Amino acid sequence: MITGKKALGHLAGKLPHNPRMPETLVTRRQLLGAASAAGILSLAASAAPSPPQPSRPVAIATPRPKAPPPPPPPASKPAVHPLAKPVYTLEQFRKAAGGPAFPADAVALTIDDGPHPVWTPKILRLLHKHQVPAMFCMIGNQVQGHESVAKDVVHDGHHVANHTWSHPTHLAKRKSGLVNKELIRAQEKIHDTTGAVPTVFRSPGGDWSPTVLRSAAEHHLIPLDWSDDPRDWSRPGVPHITNRLLAAKPGQILLCHDGGGDRSQTYQALTTVIPALKARGYTFVALNGR
Ligand SMILES: [Zn+2]
Repeated sequence: MITGKKALGHLAGKLPHNPRMPETLVTRRQLLGAASAAGILSLAASAAPSPPQPSRPVAIATPRPKAPPPPPPPASKPAVHPLAKPVYTLEQFRKAAGGPAFPADAVALTIDDGPHPVWTPKILRLLHKHQVPAMFCMIGNQVQGHESVAKDVVHDGHHVANHTWSHPTHLAKRKSGLVNKELIRAQEKIHDTTGAVPTVFRSPGGDWSPTVLRSAAEHHLIPLDWSDDPRDWSRPGVPHITNRLLAAKPGQILLCHDGGGDRSQTYQALTTVIPALKARGYTFVALNGR
């Protein structure tokens, strides 16, 4: 298990330009959303035993004052933010997550469908070489069996996002029970494995529905989409991926993949794209959540 101190220390050493990710190292209680927390509180209140009744009359002249009623449960955030909608740009992300504005020349790199035992370590080495942070959108059942790779991602100072447990297709068509299970199981696996609690959720294929958005909101997860998809997952060739990524504009959230198959084209493209965008003056920023 990685302690907050260790991860921060490591991060400070490796990624001096993006030195903070404390929000991912929070207590397990934050795994549960406001709705579940409120549910637990009300359950606990209703299950509390009633005070013992005196077995004989109490020998005092004035009636004993009634015990004050239990305090109401603490106010929680509304379960569903009425304006919850997917985040496509850095400006929208900052609005959803709060905090200071990103630099004007910022871009963010997001890497989906891992962790993968071959491609994730290669991409981690590339990111380390160029001192660039990324957000890894992890699939719970890929963390399973590749725990050490998932830990390395966090150890290197990168952020992790919840990308469901099993990457179901058409999540937007699924019922809330299944959507919730996918989110919760992935959230628990990522936290148990890495010590980090994701604050961001990416729906597979960017498939959003009111049900998916409500589930993300209930678990305090920012729904993250992207600005540009180079379709690297379809293996369209290194030049195609490279050119699409080189067309990135400041303020964009870029999408790539380290899982889901042979990612040699993605890796090859990134070896060119990362130094080229840096040379252009772009700043790769970490997507630090709430
Ligand atoms: Zn995916």
